[in-house]
Amino acid sequence: MSHTVRNVLVVNAGSSSLKFMLFDMSQERMLAKGQVERIGIGDALFTFSTEGFSEKQTPCEAPNHAAAIRLACDALTAPAKGGCLKSFADIDAVGHRIVHGGEKYSKPVRLDEHALKEIEKLSPLAPLHNPGALQGIRGCEQVLPGVPHVAVFDTAFHQTMPEESYLYALPRELHDKLGVRKYGFHGTSHRFVTERAAEILGKPSDQVNLVTCHLGNGSSITAVKGGKCFDTSMGMTPLAGVVMGTRSGDVDPAIAFYLMKNGYSADDVDALFNKQGGVKALCGSSDMRDVCSACEAGNRDAQVALARLVHSYAMYVGGYVALLGRTDAIILTGGIGENSWETRQAFLKALSGLGITLDEAANRATRGVEATISGKDSAIPVIVVPTNEELMIARETFTILNP
Ligand code: AMP
Repeated sequence: MSHTVRNVLVVNAGSSSLKFMLFDMSQERMLAKGQVERIGIGDALFTFSTEGFSEKQTPCEAPNHAAAIRLACDALTAPAKGGCLKSFADIDAVGHRIVHGGEKYSKPVRLDEHALKEIEKLSPLAPLHNPGALQGIRGCEQVLPGVPHVAVFDTAFHQTMPEESYLYALPRELHDKLGVRKYGFHGTSHRFVTERAAEILGKPSDQVNLVTCHLGNGSSITAVKGGKCFDTSMGMTPLAGVVMGTRSGDVDPAIAFYLMKNGYSADDVDALFNKQGGVKALCGSSDMRDVCSACEAGNRDAQVALARLVHSYAMYVGGYVALLGRTDAIILTGGIGENSWETRQAFLKALSGLGITLDEAANRATRGVEATISGKDSAIPVIVVPTNEELMIARETFTILNP
């Protein structure tokens, strides 16, 4: 059945939250956005904004995900709230963010019962994420039946990695039977900035070699070869790779056995590495705004945390530049990459061995906008490119329905 797609609703559901954004894809324009928090917990909160209207954290009733998406659709069609849409029928498609697509999904998929079962089977690989997203899909299907629903996977962009990138040096049967391998995450963001960087550089996207750095609360760095993922810093789970807000990033795995022989349970170690690690463990805050102002005030722990953070970034960038052979640009994105000039300054200084230089004034002036922050004499240009994962999901949803 052909279906003209114009308005795409992008949904990012977790077990107790649902974020949404509506796009008019005829102009790639965002019409509205919002979120429902504390779904199924009680004291739920609704936030919504369109051009000329905004409400923040208003109490609402959201016992389940269907109720949450109904609140979203009611707001989208309410004349008093900006009236983006006349009726629910004006929503032409829904694009869902799904964290884990395993080895099964290297592209988005139009959802049907079979695809939903496959995503459910992948839940053990992303127990904190896939079940919530599935609840979101089921809720949306109840409220918007007959509308095409598309799943866009965070892992999909990384499925082009060759074996030498994704295989761990462990017995093959762990991969074959249990799916133990590197998957990588933030793929939608890495793809978005790759496409935009190709435009900025004036090259076809299948010819660019980049190191894309998504630096936020969770961070990952990807080597992009010929527009495709060649390697990425996150692993089988988002714990691996660079130092993050509360995740340790790479550690000697034997630390886990050591701690478990000293009375820690597997869950304790999991919480320690995922929630009590990273810059938070080193200096008490996971937010780079706090860390950078503490550095400025002379706090030694914060200074060490920042140094350790950029050290871990530089190790990946250096390795990827070596693997790529030719690197057209290093791209910085995510909350830290787009906004934290102090972190970027320290990062680029840590890359000076690669002949990378910093344009201090351009770096200080750049916040949330596209800009080149490396010096004219830099061996590799370093460009800030704000990411837009929701728009990428809307684009992928649009493209799969309008092949
Ligand atoms: P994300 O997970 O991409 O939303 O990024 C969150 C991270 O970005 C946090 O560590 C924030 O401290 C950091 N961040 C966001 N805005 C700024 C800013 N204006 N200056 C410095 N860091 C920022």
